[in-house]
Amino acid sequence: MSQPATFLARLREVVGMPHVLTDPGDMALYLTDWRGRYTGRAQAVALPANTAEVAAVVRLCMEARVPIVPQGGNTGLVGGGTPDGSGTALVLCLKRLRTMRAVDAANNTLTAEAGCLLVEVQAAATAADRLFPLSLAAEGSCTIGGNLATNAGGVQVLRYGNARELCLGVEVVLPSGEVWNGLRGLRKDNTGPDLKHLFIGSEGTLGLITAAVLKLFPRPTASATAWLTLADPQAAVDLLGAAQGRFGSRVTACELLSRPVLDLVFKHFPAQRDPLPGNAPWSLLLELSDGGDDGALRDVLGEFLAARLESGAVLDATIAASSEQARRLWALRETAPEAEKREGISIKHDVAVPVSRVPEFLARAAASLPQAFPGARILAFGHVGDGNLHYNVCHSNAADNPALLARQAEVNRHVYDLVAELNGSISAEHGIGQLKRDQLPRYKPALELALLRQFKRQLDPLGLMNPGKLFPDPRDA
Ligand SMILES: Cc1cc2nc3c(=O)[nH]c(=O)nc-3n(C[C@H](O)[C@H](O)[C@H](O)COP(=O)(O)OP(=O)(O)OC[C@H]3O[C@@H](n4cnc5c(N)ncnc54)[C@H](O)[C@@H]3O)c2cc1C
Repeated sequence: MSQPATFLARLREVVGMPHVLTDPGDMALYLTDWRGRYTGRAQAVALPANTAEVAAVVRLCMEARVPIVPQGGNTGLVGGGTPDGSGTALVLCLKRLRTMRAVDAANNTLTAEAGCLLVEVQAAATAADRLFPLSLAAEGSCTIGGNLATNAGGVQVLRYGNARELCLGVEVVLPSGEVWNGLRGLRKDNTGPDLKHLFIGSEGTLGLITAAVLKLFPRPTASATAWLTLADPQAAVDLLGAAQGRFGSRVTACELLSRPVLDLVFKHFPAQRDPLPGNAPWSLLLELSDGGDDGALRDVLGEFLAARLESGAVLDATIAASSEQARRLWALRETAPEAEKREGISIKHDVAVPVSRVPEFLARAAASLPQAFPGARILAFGHVGDGNLHYNVCHSNAADNPALLARQAEVNRHVYDLVAELNGSISAEHGIGQLKRDQLPRYKPALELALLRQFKRQLDPLGLMNPGKLFPDPRDA
């Protein structure tokens, strides 16, 4: 057991007095998650300044048997960065590791420390006339270390992939306190299994990512954004396939919204206008990006859509004539989560199925959920191009919402069982953390979980690296 006074004194020696917080008021911000769903306790919050200090803090924690909860911008949505209620943990926040170590425009790479905000990484890429395409609504607060630890997705995954695909190398402080320098900016390196992938998406349970080499891309100079209405989700999947056949990787985004979601957007954001009035059951935002100029890209997109309007594959379509119009179309998609929030609480699911099975998932869930839960209203939207849906359920009568919420576990089971049947994932983007930890064993093959636990035991034999996240806390066994 740790000797708190000695431990804290040594911690202050390592990172400096002002960077060890113990006052409850100072620590509060670090002890509650973004949604306010989880609040924990900690003996301190430490803010080291560099990799060497992180490694020294980790060694100290292992010696004193103090659990470590890594944290970046604390914008995670599954309670992964929040300590438990015991008050024994140290929150190790990396946001002072803020150096942009190198930009290599010729190699199309950038090396950033873990605490750099996502917007800062994007800006550094822009300054080198390159694009770092990871983009999500929390980008002004989340850190690149947190993005990698959660393998974040966002709005451009269809074209560029998620955080895992945007990373060429990492530097990691292991639970042993050793520093693994895997900061290689190579696109080809066949010298054995690629260990960086163990740490990406591991939600701070295997080590602390302190820096990363990230991929950069040429900056697109043109974009064309269309809003379409469709009869059903199958039409969306067919259209996406045709667009990718015609435009290849120039298809950058493909976002689907159901009518009930759009209705909520118009209800709670009355300034928003329906670009294609007519109550069509499904709408799709399709965006292309490329070099060259906007006009040429809009023209080819226009020709493509005209043929599909004529065949009846698309009910109606409009193409933004300016970047301001494109922004307004995107606003319809981006205000959907907030509109839903204003409507009241819903049971949220962030799921993925193969793109080809999105229509089947939507049809089967729409048929079975209201049968099992009378009055259930489904609010479905999301990154259809990635097979990722935000599939949220509330009661059509707000007064009956509490009764439905009381059955949340059953609703989750209903949705997740169907997702599993279609070979999907119960967490497309946000991770497991505390939120879905106890559901994971039902949906992940036992052998896969056993292998993950072996890696965990091997790297973190004391079980002190973010205990209780992703895996049950071994100390509870
Ligand atoms: C408004 C909003 C919109 C969002 N949109 C999206 C979206 O579109 N797509 C998406 O995928 N996610 C989205 N998210 C969630 C997303 O996971 C986080 O925004 C982000 O990736 C987490 O970064 P962070 O620095 O805040 O990490 P934190 O919240 O601080 O930590 C997240 C997890 O990573 C661990 N961790 C943090 N830093 C490190 C590190 N350096 N080394 C090891 N482990 C670490 C923590 O222990 C925790 O388990 C959104 C969140 C919000 C609030």
